[in-house]
Amino acid sequence: MLALVTDPGVPHSTRVAEVPTVRATEDTLLMRVLEVGVCGTDREISEGVFGVPAHGESLVLGHESLAVVERDGHGFSRGDLVTATVRRSCTHCQACAEGAPDSCLSGDYVERGITRLDGFARELVAEDPAQVIPIPATLGRLGVLAEPTSICERALRHARSIGGRQPWQLERALVVGAGAIGVISTFLLRLAGLDVWTASLEATSDLVVASGARYVSTTDTPLTDLRNESGGFDLVISAVPDAQLMADSLGLLRRSGVACLLGIDGRPQRVSIDGPVLGLDAILENRVLFGSVNAHREDWLAAVDSLDRARARWPEELEALVALRVPLDRFEEAFAHRGGKATLALDD
Ligand code: BGC
Repeated sequence: MLALVTDPGVPHSTRVAEVPTVRATEDTLLMRVLEVGVCGTDREISEGVFGVPAHGESLVLGHESLAVVERDGHGFSRGDLVTATVRRSCTHCQACAEGAPDSCLSGDYVERGITRLDGFARELVAEDPAQVIPIPATLGRLGVLAEPTSICERALRHARSIGGRQPWQLERALVVGAGAIGVISTFLLRLAGLDVWTASLEATSDLVVASGARYVSTTDTPLTDLRNESGGFDLVISAVPDAQLMADSLGLLRRSGVACLLGIDGRPQRVSIDGPVLGLDAILENRVLFGSVNAHREDWLAAVDSLDRARARWPEELEALVALRVPLDRFEEAFAHRGGKATLALDD
């Protein structure tokens, strides 16, 4: 069968190749993959700067999946829409033992399509049923957004838990970035009824505006000006791969504010922060800056539910978020695409 294969560490080795076909065992659920989403992590793996092979030198890419169940079993019926989690237990830490590999304490986890475990960009996958997440039929192809949504759900769950350690009124939120994670975060925060500001480089974002959030073009208004303009934010979700902007988010918070970092920026560099923001405001105003990665099963279930509510409320905008859908052999176009989610369809 065909798959999108890469050799992690070897730039531009990504190719469509034949891989051995998969056979389901009694313990696995056979899934026929319909579509995989492409994100910055896939691009980094393809550029040779991230990822670990699954066997030999190679790795099947794809961690954002939408599939149909191929054969009845484990509580699923043939034709059911499903997706599956990305990170799996390291088998020897307390977090993984408690079913929370998203908080793995050893760092020895495996991740589908990223770290030591083949991904979903192939025709068939035999999956551990415990890792399978049902997608409601109403979501249809939008189910491919479940994985990025699970990342946002985890961020919000942790932000609420951290903010909620003391009296806190979550009223005004800032999302930095209007890529898939930024737009989905905006939708989730608007579903929760918050006053949401979303800032990005582009002139505007129809998707953000349609959700009732306020769009700020950072080309016209520097991010750091937003604190005065807004009065400060209770929550900042930083969804851009820029460590300087991540550091800036601490200064955008108001009292008891929480900033969550989601975009990854591994460039070797120094970033700066105003001394009093760190040495004074962060302390005297009980502010928190934290990072979040991956997602717990509960975040996946919440993500699917939220996505379906977002679809009911902003159907055209959610459809438009999947901005490019191409067959597997046009993966280079999907990898080069910027603005909105690009996906690879395996059933074309
Ligand atoms: C994925 C996460 C993963 C992280 C680090 C992200 O792109 O969405 O599931 O944990 O990369 O590998």
